[in-house]
Amino acid sequence: MARLLKGAPVAAAISAELAERVKKLRERGVVPTLATVRLGERPADVAYERGAGKRCEKLGIAVQRYVLPEDCSREALLSCIREINEREEIHGCLMFRPLPDPEAEREVCALLNPEKDMDGITRGALGDVFTGGKGSFPPSTAQACMEILDFYGYQVRSARVTVIGASLVIGRPVGAMLLNRCATLTMCHIDTVDTAAHARNAEILISAAGCAGLVTREYVSPGQVVLDVGINQDQDGNICGDVCFDEVEPVVEAITPVPGGVGTVTSAVLAKHVVEAAERVMKRELVVK
Ligand code: NAD
Repeated sequence: MARLLKGAPVAAAISAELAERVKKLRERGVVPTLATVRLGERPADVAYERGAGKRCEKLGIAVQRYVLPEDCSREALLSCIREINEREEIHGCLMFRPLPDPEAEREVCALLNPEKDMDGITRGALGDVFTGGKGSFPPSTAQACMEILDFYGYQVRSARVTVIGASLVIGRPVGAMLLNRCATLTMCHIDTVDTAAHARNAEILISAAGCAGLVTREYVSPGQVVLDVGINQDQDGNICGDVCFDEVEPVVEAITPVPGGVGTVTSAVLAKHVVEAAERVMKRELVVK
């Protein structure tokens, strides 16, 4: 039976450390504040907004929710981002993506103040991820994968890691973060020939394809650590990952569940980013004074 890499203990460890930091900020009159921006009522966005909001508020982080109609004008969306940029009491922003209009999404990514970018959507943040810079915040889900590996004690340095999925949201940034930590990386995507062979060869397999049932017995080998990032719906409408859990779990050394794995850690990482953003602002203000 594989070791089950649950997200809850990882998130709890992150949260425990944050509670103390939030207390210190509040004692100095700073309430760390996150703005979330959602267009429409997509169930995955609503669920993430609820989960992340609950975690933040439990930790003493305020959450301001901006909800716009799915068909809102580009100008309405951009003016919402401008407002978030301008409001000093807001330290961080999370926008649920993808947006229905990819051009509008590009404009938002260009407009958002990089210091308030909690999820690595701006060019500056992605640049830092790829150059190993420390100035901004990486995409929370990519960071969550690294937190899970570290928490459960799996060494990244020199390890053969295969990532399935090459989006800018998860696959590419987590690949860059693994490379920054000296992993030996293989990236697979929809046009990769024989993804199963690349996956089998890995010591750590990260699947972020968004494809239910993709990772079957054929994709894995004994001794592997498998992180399932996918959040999909099965034929019965239940949440599931990319991995056929029942086939894969008996073979591998360790595996994250879905739900209750990577997604649980993602919201804790988001909270950590907001606290850090608030601390940076507070430190800057202390220097100015
Ligand atoms: P995306 O559609 O933007 O990218 C998917 C990537 O996977 C692409 O690079 C594509 O080429 C590749 N891919 C798709 N099918 C493939 C296949 N059969 N074989 C090999 N490669 C394949 O998706 P995304 O935004 O990167 O999200 C991926 C998944 O992660 C989704 O299920 C999403 O819901 C989930 N997600 C999870 C979290 C979390 O916190 N756990 C957060 C965000 C997204």
